[in-house]
Formats: sequence, structure tokens, C-alpha cells
Amino acid sequence: MSAAIEAASAGVKVLVIDANEKAGGQLFKQIHKFFGSSMHRAGVRGIDIGRELLEKCEELGVEIWLDSLAIGIYDNLRVAVDRKTGFNEHKMILVEPKKIVIATGASENAVRFPGWTLPGVMGAGAAQTMINFHRVLPGKKVLTIGSGNVGLIVSYQLMQAGAEIEGIVEALPKINGYAVHASKLTREGIPIYTGYTVLEAHGKERVSEAVIAKVNPDWSTIPGTEKTIEVDTIAIAAGLKPLTGLAHMAGCQLTFDRFLGGWAPIHNEHMETTVPGIYIAGDSTGVEEANTAIEEGKLAGTAIAASLGYLDEKEADALQEAAWERLKGLREGAHGAERTQAKEHQLHAYAEYMERRGEVG
Ligand SMILES: Cc1cc2nc3c(=O)[nH]c(=O)nc-3n(C[C@H](O)[C@H](O)[C@H](O)COP(=O)(O)OP(=O)(O)OC[C@H]3O[C@@H](n4cnc5c(N)ncnc54)[C@H](O)[C@@H]3O)c2cc1C
Repeated sequence: MSAAIEAASAGVKVLVIDANEKAGGQLFKQIHKFFGSSMHRAGVRGIDIGRELLEKCEELGVEIWLDSLAIGIYDNLRVAVDRKTGFNEHKMILVEPKKIVIATGASENAVRFPGWTLPGVMGAGAAQTMINFHRVLPGKKVLTIGSGNVGLIVSYQLMQAGAEIEGIVEALPKINGYAVHASKLTREGIPIYTGYTVLEAHGKERVSEAVIAKVNPDWSTIPGTEKTIEVDTIAIAAGLKPLTGLAHMAGCQLTFDRFLGGWAPIHNEHMETTVPGIYIAGDSTGVEEANTAIEEGKLAGTAIAASLGYLDEKEADALQEAAWERLKGLREGAHGAERTQAKEHQLHAYAEYMERRGEVG
């Protein structure tokens, strides 16, 4: 949406395609106040940022197709879309834009253990979608795997929605997310089992208990430390990885970095990938935060407006420079050095690749 706003503000005609029933991605699940500096919207709830972006899109006349899935990108920037055309009605449509921004976000990592396919075992993001978006409690007795910010925030929100959090299991020797989120849970007496992992889940029609055990530093389990916990839900918060399917299919070059969640498309400073005309922004080019996704969207949007002749170069350069400054500030937080290095690596990898192809200007 921020790429759309930036391009549409300059006069570009924009179409947003989203598989969900509402545009805005994860923001409409984030009922908590964002962390970070006030310059970067800290203290504002994700849902409010989403609302503002939606209103701005509306004001600028950005067209949005909802419940519509982009299923492929073919030669000459053709996008195949399974578009919702009515109640229970979909139609395949080929859209032929001049430029494309891929901002498909990320998908959740799974943790495999005996019993992981039982009903009630789900990604923490799925649990968050159920409570904050669909207003359905996934279960009453929850065990969360992973104490990163997603695990901590989703556990707290499940608790606010009426579930009992039986515990949070973390294989690392210490809590992985921000202390501010962890302390909200520990104040409520919720145990956070650091140095533990989940061994297996049991149940007939759905999960009814989880067995956890202590781990050695190499994550092998320590026999005799098993603990059985009665649960009806296991929420797995073991990290996210960029959703790269469309970019990969379009032939965009990818690079691997564990600090960005794994494989992600490389791009230049305008967020253009190695396929001319295809831009990328947000978690789909490395899992970070909503604020960085918004700034990357702005970079893509202004670059597109400039390349289509809707913004003069000087104006576009100034907007891009300001967005890069803000990004630099945002990447000074947790794992800042590693994230900055990983993002720089993406830029270098792009330059190297284009040089090999003889296309760098
Ligand atoms: C529990 C939790 C707490 C968080 N807290 C914070 C916080 O406090 N501060 C912060 O800055 N960030 C936070 N984040 C991170 C933030 O939500 C994400 O980094 C951000 O939403 C990424 O934006 P995005 O636009 O790249 O992807 P998303 O928000 O995931 O949006 C991707 C969109 O693409 C659509 N899509 C995907 N594939 C297709 C397709 N093929 N066709 C059509 N549509 C498609 C999806 O439906 C979705 O709407 C949090 C995340 C979680 C899970």
C-alpha cells in the first residue's frame, strides 16, 4: 500500500491485488502499540497505521482487488490473477502492467515433531489471524513454541482473548524477544521454559497434551527432563521466511541470508529486482518490520513514478534519499548490524549479477 500511495500521489494509475478480504496484510492483526522510535510510529497500533494507509489509497483512487490471488508472473510482466468477481465466483484475468511491485510478505516456519499434524497445532500467525481478524479463539489451553516477539505478542493477545497460556517453550538459554513483551506475560505468572523444546504432541481428534524436555546447548534433548502439559492448542512461532514464489517464478535472482529469514530476491537501491520492471518490498525481500516494509514500499513507488516519467529525477532522488535515511535509523535496533549487513549484501549481489550480465549502467 505504501508503494501504491507513493506512485499514485505522483499520478501513476495503480492496481493492488490482495488474496485477503482486506488490504493491509499483517497490520490488521497488530492490535498492539508498535515498538521503536516515535519518528517511526512507535506507540501507534498496527491496525491504526493500516487504516491510515487504506484511507490514503482510497483518497488517491488506488484500485484494490480483494480475495484475489496473483498466481503467476509470465513474460513481459503479465500477471495471472484469480480474481473474485462475486459471491463464490472467481475469474482468471491476465493483467498487463508497465511495472510490478511484489510485496507478498512472509510465511511461517514449521517445527516438525511427532503429532505436529494434529488439529490444534498451528502457526502463531494463524492463531493471531483467528483471534484478531476472525474473532475466533483457536483453543483454551495454549502452549507456544518460540519466545521471539511474535511468540510473546501472540501469547499475550491469546490471553487477552480468553485463552490460558500454559507456557512458552524456547530452546535458547534466554528469552529471544523484547523484555517489554516478555514481562507482560511473566507478570501474569505464565512460565517461559528457556532451554526447552517440544518433543511430541498427543491427542485423538485434536491435540490434548504436549511433551517438552530440556535441551543441551547443541539442542539434543536431555533424557529424564520430560514434562507433559495438558493443552488443546500449540502455537508455533519459529520464525518467518520471505514468500518468494512469484519473484522466483518471474526469474528474479535470490540470495540466502539467515538474518532475513532465508532466500530473498536481490534488488538495487530503487528496490528493482534483476528482472527489469519488477520491484520488491517488505518481508518478501527479507523479514523485518512493518516500518521497514513501508519505507521499502516508498522506495519502489517513487522509483516507478520516476521511471514512468511522473516524477522528475531530482524530486525522486530527494524522496529516495530521505527513505534510505529512515531505513538506516530503523535498522539500528535489534540485530541491526546483521540486518544492515544482509541488506547491503543484497545490493552488492544485485550489482555483481547485473555486471556479469553486462547490464549495469
Ligand atoms: C505478531 C507480530 C507482531 C509484529 N509487531 C510489529 C511491530 O510492533 N512493529 C513493526 O514494525 N512490525 C511488526 N511486525 C511485523 C510486520 O507485521 C511485518 O513486517 C509487515 O506486516 C510486513 O509487511 P509486508 O507488506 O511486507 O507483508 P504483509 O503484511 O504480510 O502483507 C503481505 C500481503 O500480501 C498478500 N499476498 C501474499 N501473496 C499474495 C498473492 N500471491 N496474491 C495476492 N496477494 C498476496 C497477503 O494477503 C498480504 O495481505 C509484527 C509481526 C507479527 C507477526
